[in-house]
Amino acid sequence: MAEVQQNRPSARTPDDQIGKPFLVIAGKIRKCLVCEELFTRQEAPKHANVVCQPRSEYPEHE
Ligand SMILES: [Zn+2]
Repeated sequence: MAEVQQNRPSARTPDDQIGKPFLVIAGKIRKCLVCEELFTRQEAPKHANVVCQPRSEYPEHE
């Protein structure tokens, strides 16, 4: 029984490759260019997976 290590999923998730346009602020804070909300490094990738809308369309959002 030989050890085959060909099925090794590379869990590389580059910080800059998220499916949404984010503006990096101060290296840690990221601003979603869609809804213009601020997120941390950890929150930004999560936010990239959710649907957000521009806030300007909904002035009574808060
Ligand atoms: Zn957003």
